[in-house]
Amino acid sequence: MALSAILVAGAGGFIGGHLTGELLRRGHKVRAVDLKPLDQWYQRHPQAENFSMDLRYPDACLASATGMEQVYNLACDMGGMGFIENHKAACMLSVLINTHLLEAARKAGTTRYFFASSACVYAADKQTDPANPGLREQDAYPAMPEDGYGWEKLFSERMCRHYREDYGIETRVVRYHNVYGPHGTYDGGREKAPAAICRKVIEAVRDNTMEIEIWGDGRQTRSFMYIDDCIHGTTRLMDGAFCDPINLGSAEMVSINQLVDVVEEIAGVRLLRKYNPWAPKGVRGRSSDNALIRSVLGWEPSISLRTGMEKTYAWIREQMA
Ligand code: NAD
Repeated sequence: MALSAILVAGAGGFIGGHLTGELLRRGHKVRAVDLKPLDQWYQRHPQAENFSMDLRYPDACLASATGMEQVYNLACDMGGMGFIENHKAACMLSVLINTHLLEAARKAGTTRYFFASSACVYAADKQTDPANPGLREQDAYPAMPEDGYGWEKLFSERMCRHYREDYGIETRVVRYHNVYGPHGTYDGGREKAPAAICRKVIEAVRDNTMEIEIWGDGRQTRSFMYIDDCIHGTTRLMDGAFCDPINLGSAEMVSINQLVDVVEEIAGVRLLRKYNPWAPKGVRGRSSDNALIRSVLGWEPSISLRTGMEKTYAWIREQMA
């Protein structure tokens, strides 16, 4: 792939920070933009052009996209289940970011545009069984996605398709399934299960409570993708020819109880589990069916949960020390 000028929107966040680093390593010119003040970015790469801007506004989008051949849109007001169940309007307002960025990309003559969608677009009735066989791309319709966050993603997916069909921008829409790893949120209310469980285990040992609160009954299932797999799949799908929405996730499905087992093993402890049935739980069972990505890329995420969680746990423990 030739070297390009690339905008990473949401570069101050978890995935955007890792992606910016990877694109710079490959020699691309990167413009990194995020709402947060620069000193709050999870990673800041001095070789990139770094700007703090609110991409809900058309002028900021146009200023960001001008001169850029490619745009990765990873900017979104989001978090784990605890955040998205309680901030539905805020989640839906991310529609402004994608809509104005697409329009700015069109005006700026950008040729390729990536949208980070989510497994939250999948219909609720396909996710009632903890033994979920894996969600296939067609399971998004008939639509009944996650309220708020999932509806925004589904609408924005369609906007990308229409901009491709009507204006010729090569849009790529990728449905991430739970991404985790170092340099992500682990406290403050936006954290997702892998990081939250690492933090809770570290706190239980540090404070000598030796107990952990688990949301729901712990039997709900998910799959978790390590960040390195996410970045590898993201750039390959962006650079490739496949343009319909596609899963990018791990097919290693575990229950939340099994995720806690993994973290306890890494930490070398056993904790008393307290289940909170009133906490946000999300769907009952969710995993990624990877038949499509295997056929498109001849590859699927493969870093094991154990390997990825060891790195994530070590990083969170270092931050909390
Ligand atoms: P993140 O919250 O760490 O990063 C998102 C970034 O967007 C944040 O730094 C935030 O400040 C920025 N942002 C929010 N509003 C903005 C605005 N108005 N203007 C500019 N920047 C703004 O999240 P992440 O985990 O890195 O997720 C990146 C993308 O991937 C998001 O679109 C998210 O919905 C999607 N996704 C992530 C996961 C996951 O497990 N992490 C799963 C599915 C989909």
